[in-house]
Amino acid sequence: MYSIDLRGKTALVFGVANQRSIAWFIAQKLSEAGARLVITYQNERLKENAIKLTKSLESPVLLECDVQQPGHIENVFKNIQNKVGGLDILIHSIAYANREDLGGEFSKTNKEGFLLALEISAYSLIPIVRNAAPLLSKQGGTVVSMTFQASEKVFPGYNVMGTAKAALENEVKQLAYEVGEQGVRVNAISAGPVDTLSSRVIKGYVDMKRAAAERSPLRKNISLDDIAGTALYLSSDLSSGVTGEIIHVDAGYNIMGI
Ligand code: NAD
Repeated sequence: MYSIDLRGKTALVFGVANQRSIAWFIAQKLSEAGARLVITYQNERLKENAIKLTKSLESPVLLECDVQQPGHIENVFKNIQNKVGGLDILIHSIAYANREDLGGEFSKTNKEGFLLALEISAYSLIPIVRNAAPLLSKQGGTVVSMTFQASEKVFPGYNVMGTAKAALENEVKQLAYEVGEQGVRVNAISAGPVDTLSSRVIKGYVDMKRAAAERSPLRKNISLDDIAGTALYLSSDLSSGVTGEIIHVDAGYNIMGI
């Protein structure tokens, strides 16, 4: 049996909002494997949650980061450089769209809603990797982002977020090429539907979940642990030859034609 040992490694996790967040399940998995955790929270409102959740972790570093706020991303990496010194693992688990853009007719998406969804859910990976690269490159590092199959196929209700995920997946490949020269890897997990704060807002989410359980080869919905397990693999040397990949963790749903 393989055991993954991340002792001596530092992991930075973006996207912990509450105890159901995918980012939180990944953070716990990385911590169990021995990694030191730096966790960001979006704003003061979510700070309390982050403090409560991370009490169980060994000396976590908590930093505020709203990717829309000027200077926030840069500040995270300045803090990491000063307080921690380096970085080995980066988890990007961030997405947002206006509620009215996650249902109804896609053609009604307005420019403001489109740009907001794309800025937070897709663009944010670019400045994050740009700022992380010099820190990651010292020891060779790995970046993992979160996506959904609506980037490839139509999932009614996912709407503008499908566009954002298509952009994000393309970024994963272009960034993987750029930082690959320094030995840094960039991948994404395309996860099946799981109940979180964000997913429940999507009109059609219940149908997506039911279809996945009925029609996926494994005839089940995936769990938050399934996602965290793959994130752990992508964060470890077991995946040392893997970069620019979009790995489906969806009980195989994506291979089906019907
Ligand atoms: P979540 O609501 O727990 O996480 C979303 C996170 O995005 C939150 O922590 C929130 O604070 C953060 N965020 C939003 N706007 C931000 C901003 N301006 N600056 C910084 N952070 C911001 O929900 P989740 O389901 O854990 O989502 C995490 C990722 O997983 C997202 O990219 C989502 O699209 C993706 N995903 C989710 C599912 C699912 O079914 N839940 C499936 C596939 C992919």
